[in-house]
Amino acid sequence: MDPFESEREAMVREQLERRGLANPRVLDAIRAVPRHLFVKNSLLKHAYADRPLTIGHYQTISQPYVVALMCDRLKLEETDRVLEIGTGSGYAAAVLAQLCERVVTVERIPELAKRARETLAKVDCRNVTVHCSDGTLGRPEEAPFDAILVSAAAPAVPETYKQQLCVGGRLVIPAGRSRSSQSLYRVRKKSDSEFAVEDLGGVAFVPLIGEKGWQNG
Ligand code: SAH
Repeated sequence: MDPFESEREAMVREQLERRGLANPRVLDAIRAVPRHLFVKNSLLKHAYADRPLTIGHYQTISQPYVVALMCDRLKLEETDRVLEIGTGSGYAAAVLAQLCERVVTVERIPELAKRARETLAKVDCRNVTVHCSDGTLGRPEEAPFDAILVSAAAPAVPETYKQQLCVGGRLVIPAGRSRSSQSLYRVRKKSDSEFAVEDLGGVAFVPLIGEKGWQNG
């Protein structure tokens, strides 16, 4: 029996359903992932709180609502192949793994990639592969993807991700000129050269650092 099950259920009710998220597949995916295993032991009692938490290396595990919102807006199908940029703790990758067939996730900090691999193995998540590289370049060798979720904020939407989507594919990404606050965008690829862009509202993510993102420091 999972001692955090009732906290997780309360999180779904009070943080997600109350804010209007009703997609049953996304709610079930969030119910299925033991978020407390993705946070540091010292933060266990806050694992299901309505906020991001530090995971070391100046990075964070995103707020549960933001993960659920991004997954919902990606409109995932069971057969989809998904690219995630910014593995961090591995939590969002584990949620995505419940919603689609395969997840390829990229993290730039080797220690976080290693820890995420270990946590994902512990929760028996077998359809996720964690790579350690500059995610601003995507994964051209495995493209195209049905969906791309970017968990760190870019100065602008990098062309690489648009190119690595299938026609009909969806990209959800925080972007904006400020390092501390951005908008969340959904981009849908209508054809090889046409994209529909929607602004889903204000968010605050850690920066996406790399060749097509922010410079380090
Ligand atoms: N999805 C994560 C949240 C991670 S925070 C979770 O559920 O825990 C964003 C992550 O993006 C950080 O771990 C950061 O190191 C990583 N990141 C930043 N720039 C990156 C890049 N260019 N490529 C890959 N990962 C990057």
